[in-house]
Order: sequence, then C-alpha cells, then structure tokens
Amino acid sequence: MSKRVAVIGAGPSGLAQLRAFQSAAEKGAPIPEVVCFEKQSNWGGLWNYSWRTGVDEYGEPVHGSMYRYLWSNGPKEGLEFADYSFEEHFGKQIASYPPRGVLFDYIEGRVLKADVRKWIRFSSVIRWVSFDPQSGLFTLTIHDMVKDHVYQEEFDHVIVASGHFWSPNVPEYPGFDKFHGRILHAHDFRDAREFAGQNVLVVGASYSAEDIGSQCWKYGAASITSCYRSAPMGFDWPENWEEKQGLAHVEGKTAYFRDGSSKDIDAIILCTGYRHVFPFLPDDLRLKTANRLATADLYKGVAYVHNPKLFYLGMQDQWFTFNMFDAQAWFVRDVILGRIDLPDDTQSMMADVAAREAAEEASDDVKYAITYQGDYIKELIAETDYPSFDVDGACEAFFEWKAHKKKDIMGFRNNSYRSVITGTMAPVHHTPWKDALDDSMQAYLQN
Ligand SMILES: Cc1cc2nc3c(=O)[nH]c(=O)nc-3n(C[C@H](O)[C@H](O)[C@H](O)COP(=O)(O)OP(=O)(O)OC[C@H]3O[C@@H](n4cnc5c(N)ncnc54)[C@H](O)[C@@H]3O)c2cc1C
Repeated sequence: MSKRVAVIGAGPSGLAQLRAFQSAAEKGAPIPEVVCFEKQSNWGGLWNYSWRTGVDEYGEPVHGSMYRYLWSNGPKEGLEFADYSFEEHFGKQIASYPPRGVLFDYIEGRVLKADVRKWIRFSSVIRWVSFDPQSGLFTLTIHDMVKDHVYQEEFDHVIVASGHFWSPNVPEYPGFDKFHGRILHAHDFRDAREFAGQNVLVVGASYSAEDIGSQCWKYGAASITSCYRSAPMGFDWPENWEEKQGLAHVEGKTAYFRDGSSKDIDAIILCTGYRHVFPFLPDDLRLKTANRLATADLYKGVAYVHNPKLFYLGMQDQWFTFNMFDAQAWFVRDVILGRIDLPDDTQSMMADVAAREAAEEASDDVKYAITYQGDYIKELIAETDYPSFDVDGACEAFFEWKAHKKKDIMGFRNNSYRSVITGTMAPVHHTPWKDALDDSMQAYLQN
C-alpha cells in the first residue's frame, strides 16, 4: 500500500506542500496519497478573509487575523512564487503592494492550475495527533464539522502547516477592567472605519502596531498613540501620531505611560503578537519555539528532531513568506519521496538547529536577518528541483522597502520594484496608498 501523508492546514504553507507533490506527479514520479485537512470552509489561510471574530459558525476559534483594506506590508517581489509569476496569473505586471484580495487571488490561481483542491477536506478540524512507535504510524482524530462526525485515520507522515499568527498574546494592564471604551487584540481588528474620529491607543511596536495604526490613521481616526516596550518604531509619523514609552495603567478614559505622561483615549488595540499554539499535539510531538528565524527543534527548519516523520512548515518569523514555504515544502516532499536523507541520529539534527540559532544570534542587524533568511531559502532550493530564482535580488527589494519606509511611512507603498522571476519592473500604482480607499481587485488592477 502506498504511503499516506497528512497536511494540516490549507494556507500558503499547506498549499505549497500540495503543489510540491503535484509537481513531482506531473513529472511522472509516483507520489503518496496526500490528504490535507482544513478547518475553514475555503483555502488561503489568513488570506481567506472573514468578518468573524471569536468563534466561527461551528463555535471553533476563528483563525483569521486579517482585516478589511489590508494591503501587503512588504513588496510582492519578495514573495513571488518561482513557478507561477504575477504576470502569469494576472496577464500583466501589477503594482508592488497588492491588497489582500489580490494576493488571495494569486495564491488561489496556482493551486487551481495544479488542480489540488480535490486533496483537501474542508471544514475538518484536526483534534488530536498521536504516534505509535510500534507501527510507525500517526493516528489523526478529525472532526468533520459539516457532518458533525469525528473519525480517525492513520498516516505515515504528518506535515503541520497550521500557522502561528492566530492565537493572540493578550497582556493585562491595571485598569483595563474599568476602561471606558473598547479593548481588542489585533486578531479581532476587522475594519478601521470603526475608529474614525476616535483617539486610538495602539500597544506594541511591531508590524501589527504599525499597520493597524496606519489603517486607523488612513480611515479617519482623530489621533493615534502607539507605545513600545523596548524601542520605538521611530518612523517620521504624521502630526496626529505620537509614540510613547510603555503603557503603565489606565484610569477611566486616560492611559498613563511609563514616562509619567498621559493621554485620553477612546479605544485600545493590543498589537502584542501571537503565540505558537498547537492544541492538537501531545507534548512529545509539539513544537515549542519563540517567534524567531531559527526555530527550536526543527532540522533544516522543517523536520521535527524528536520524530522526523513529522514536519512543520512556515513556523519561522517571516521576512520571506510564500517562496520560503515553497522551498520548505519541496524539501519535505523530497525527504518523504526518499530523494533526500535526513541524518539518522537526533544529535546531528540538534547540531544543525544549534548552528542555525548561533548564526541568527550573531547579529541583530535587519539586513543581516533578511540575508540570513534568503540564504536559508537558497540552501533548501539547492537540494530540490524548485525553480532557482534570484534570492539576492529579492533581498535587495526588502532592503529598498526598509529604506522607503524610513523615508515615508505613509507613502512607502507607492514604490515599485523589479520582479526577480520575470525581470519586469512593476508599474507605479495609479493612486497613492493613503488616498486609495477602495481595496477591491477591480480598483487595484485598473490602469
Ligand atoms: C495581519 C497579518 C498580516 C500579514 N501580512 C502579510 C503580508 O502582507 N505579506 C506576507 O507575505 N505575509 C503576511 N503575513 C504573514 C502570514 O503569516 C503569511 O503570509 C501566511 O499566511 C502564512 O501561511 P501559513 O499557511 O503558514 O499559515 P496560515 O495562513 O495561518 O494558514 C494556516 C491554515 O491552517 C488551518 N488550521 C489551523 N489549525 C487547524 C486545525 N486544527 N485543523 C485544520 N486546519 C487548521 C487554518 O484554518 C489556516 O487555513 C501577515 C500575517 C498577519 C497575521
């Protein structure tokens, strides 16, 4: 009987895995039976927008953390699939910072072409995974939400692609329980228009704080105050945006900061990050890692050192996304197909993890970190038939992006970059980002 492979999650990482197996099959290789389980009713992971917060239609925790009017926060030239360019999908080159719906369409285009939807069981939540060392098989407990039926199946390999930006890290501050306004985590933020005319406090200094604050600013908030724990974001903010030291406590409508200053606010948005959470995995299979470039316990960033029949995709902190997931998925595929051998002892795999951690820790420079992740992609794709592409060129696009943000935080999305897949320069978008209030695909693609 042929091997069976389970993929948990049909977001960009899980879909990369399906495409990797399909591309081997397309070239005539025998492939195992691949079954992908997706708890949502459609694919795309975080890019599959839902207005819901809290729980979904079945009472399951909502996975989505994206919001209306979200535009790519980095240039698309850094994430382009090497086997499916933006030009192939849209029939022309498009501007560099597409809104969510445009990127969803692009992600979907590749897997429609590959015809892998038939491998996915939607509305299917993985409840539990166990491993039997005797048989060498994993047993998955699956809840089919449509039929409300729980069943089990056995697999030779499990690939966890369930994402790590869905379970919010929610801190408590003194006075929150008596605050005269709305407090929410970024995971539950859906529409900046809700905060028009309000004084908004954004707690945090990373991507969510920057982008959600910018969204609120763009859609008419009266003021934005952001506060940081360790270092300010330090951009040249518009005049109604103020950066303050960490939040100390809240009294009524007033927020007090660690430097003793205060500000009256209407709403608090906690942009305080996410946790790697796998409620379906027992201790001996569960990844426990910080959000970093060199994840704990993953050989080559993918094979779980304590049980290398189990793989994880996309668990790293991310500069690169879609093309990194591809590099990982092709590598994992080739391990499963027997084309790549893993070391046969845990010690060697742990040494690989330690070396990656040490290399990451060698510098806290941003360019170093981007290059580090670019080199990781190069390392993986050198071992498989994933189409080689100019990873250094993609790093350059990220360097430029960083410089453009420093220059103009509300205008960086008006820049364009050259595709490292087709060599074509992206057009400048027809409307500056701050004035482009319609994020539909139709509006974005019009000339
Ligand atoms: C607000 C926000 C904005 C972002 N913006 C960008 C951006 O502009 N550009 C960029 O490149 N990246 C961005 N990202 C990063 C994002 O992580 C990646 O683009 C990408 O979505 C990660 O893909 P993934 O497949 O690993 O995880 P996800 O997209 O999270 O997909 C995981 C899938 O697994 C499913 N799943 C989870 N648990 C189970 C279970 N128990 N059973 C069955 N299925 C399950 C989920 O339903 C989901 O479909 C952003 C992230 C966030 C949170």
